[in-house]
Amino acid sequence: MGATILDERKAFIINGGREKSSSSAAIGIKCDSDSLSGTVSQRACVYCGARVVLNPITDAFHIVHGPIGCASYTWDIRGSLTSGSDLYRNSFSTDLSDKDIVFGGEKKLAAAIEEVIEKHNPKLIFIYSTCIVGVIGDDVDAVCKQAEKKHGTRVISVKSPGFSGNKSYGYKMACNALLQLIEPHKNQAKVRGVNILGDFNLAGEMWILKNYLKQIGIPVVSTITGDACYETLIKAPAAQLNLVQCAGSMTYLAKKMEEEMGIPFIKVSFFGVEDTSASLIRIAEAIGTEENIEKAKQFTSTETNKLKGFLDKYRKNFEGKKAAIYVGGGFKAISLIRQFNELGIETVVVGTQTGKKEDYEIIASLVGENTVILDDTNPAELETFMKAKGANILVGGVKERPLAYKLGIAFCDHNHERKHALAGYDGVINFTKEINLSLNSPVWEYVKTQK
Ligand code: SF4
Repeated sequence: MGATILDERKAFIINGGREKSSSSAAIGIKCDSDSLSGTVSQRACVYCGARVVLNPITDAFHIVHGPIGCASYTWDIRGSLTSGSDLYRNSFSTDLSDKDIVFGGEKKLAAAIEEVIEKHNPKLIFIYSTCIVGVIGDDVDAVCKQAEKKHGTRVISVKSPGFSGNKSYGYKMACNALLQLIEPHKNQAKVRGVNILGDFNLAGEMWILKNYLKQIGIPVVSTITGDACYETLIKAPAAQLNLVQCAGSMTYLAKKMEEEMGIPFIKVSFFGVEDTSASLIRIAEAIGTEENIEKAKQFTSTETNKLKGFLDKYRKNFEGKKAAIYVGGGFKAISLIRQFNELGIETVVVGTQTGKKEDYEIIASLVGENTVILDDTNPAELETFMKAKGANILVGGVKERPLAYKLGIAFCDHNHERKHALAGYDGVINFTKEINLSLNSPVWEYVKTQK
């Protein structure tokens, strides 16, 4: 069993409501631990976590040191957009086979790096070590250092054997790789502006956020890692403030940058009207002038008013509907609950792959007493609780989609594969329309009558 349910709520469900839930402050949840090897979990591996964070760097070469299977993780299943290079849409692998596993894969890796540098002269290469490399013990760091010394190209080792922890550990490995990249540039002069951490430019969301910041007069120094490239990443140490959107993947990097480069950070979210407005005002208050703060207040108020009529029109379509949420990180789950609240939809099941204790405490404070909260669940558990709570729609990613369809309920893709923006005020329109179309499609009634 991968899932952990808030202790008191578990009792509540099992005992049919005879036991009372405690207040959110007193609730404890077991989370942020490794999945049990061999169990089926909705979580991805360490390598996947690292690749999520680094893949959007548009002019980097991503070489997967391992068997070819791991390299099936490519741009095609993520969807970060670029305003420059599209090198990152390729995936390279050393394609280790039996012989390499017996005699070691270092020579093959060195040859792969050599080939990429000779043919493409890149500025930046990431080498991901996957499971089998963790087992045979290739000295990937040494191969990378040697290649850097020989060619002057940044060749950065990302230690990410799938079994070495959980997806969050992969985030940490990616952050360490980014630190290795920017640390040599940490003494540059400060400039006015912010870095955006933890937005991956899915369906162009980074461009939407940059436009909002432009409207309120806040410059963006570097984006980590949506639509990033080598030249913009190395400017990151010059920023005044880090904005952390995907807290699960980027808080570690933000803390390191605070310690080593003196850049403070604030957590933000651009999902839903409430979070988008609050975040923009907080950013202006953190580094802006009185004029920036005033602009932020005016901009957010105008955009909120524009959406009021739109949301009112849809709310009646959602009366009595219940939602289940299962997403990667806590920050997204929190924003989604708020967004569903804005739409008048009750969240009856909510879970994450990598949420932290503090995320679950916020989640518990936002949902009703009967809501089931899950950490690192598996499909059978998710199905059981969605059925028990009568969810009408599941918001999740590629792995959750078949589960919803199998149950004959609506689905909304809020993962990295999505093809339309869900962030900011623009995203509120897309999200609301998608929820409405999916929830109120006549197909669900038809599916049910066939059972
Ligand atoms: S790193 Fe390991 S768990 Fe992850 S995709 Fe490769 S083989 Fe599978």
